[in-house]
Amino acid sequence: MPNTFTIGDLEVIAVSDGGVTFPAMAYFAGTTEEEWAAHARWADHDGKLTFPFGCFVVRSGDKRVLIDTGLGPITFGEYRGGALLGQLAEAGVQPADIDVVFLTHLHADHCGSAAIKVDGEMRPTFPNATYRWTSKEQEFWTGDDLPAGSFARKDIFAAVAPHFEAADGGASLAPGVDVYSMPGHTPGHAGVVLSSGDARAFILGDGISCPVQLEEPEWSGLGDVDPKLARRSQEALTREVEGTGALVGTSHFPGLTFGRVMTGEGRRYWQPV
Ligand SMILES: [Zn+2]
Repeated sequence: MPNTFTIGDLEVIAVSDGGVTFPAMAYFAGTTEEEWAAHARWADHDGKLTFPFGCFVVRSGDKRVLIDTGLGPITFGEYRGGALLGQLAEAGVQPADIDVVFLTHLHADHCGSAAIKVDGEMRPTFPNATYRWTSKEQEFWTGDDLPAGSFARKDIFAAVAPHFEAADGGASLAPGVDVYSMPGHTPGHAGVVLSSGDARAFILGDGISCPVQLEEPEWSGLGDVDPKLARRSQEALTREVEGTGALVGTSHFPGLTFGRVMTGEGRRYWQPV
């Protein structure tokens, strides 16, 4: 069953489109077994990290915002996706119910179900939705000078282009659902901040990919386009939330649960709720 959370008057359903595993020391290149000894709880017995492809439906009044769409129905190396629509149906959400699709960034494991091939033609999966992400992200991924090795789903970008409307940092996606700029993983990467009354929660895409990074704030995982900027964005977010009670969740945290950033005994860590 999908995880559900309540943030004041907002409701969040967390579902996964699939997932991938990586050896921890390969994902965080340059890290050692000695370093991982203190962080064993984030890896399995084989020293592997499991990353779900998290997608979040936020209900704000009569609006539903879907944040990220997973990998979609393709196989890509060890990556497995395609579960999103079934998971949403199980949670009672139909594609036509979604008013806004917000993509934290345009990596293939986040935009993959935004459009799907039907009768040989790519079509928007969520027929009534406006598709939104930052203008910087749009500029980067639709340009011709992508870094070597980038995998751009231009077929998806083209299919949803008539429904695209940029949403930059601070933009409102629905009442209490706002874009939170967090660049570095990709140039226009952004999360979402949910606010209702005194309650706040952040859904951070790949702004932080594994909870171990709160304990080791210099570690950068595979796929960061600008690791230094990504870590600066992470530090700014961490300072904003630590000790406040605000909930933090990301696309790939284990179990797709939310947690709090805690400090104690001279260290910082993420504590799942
Ligand atoms: Zn990702």
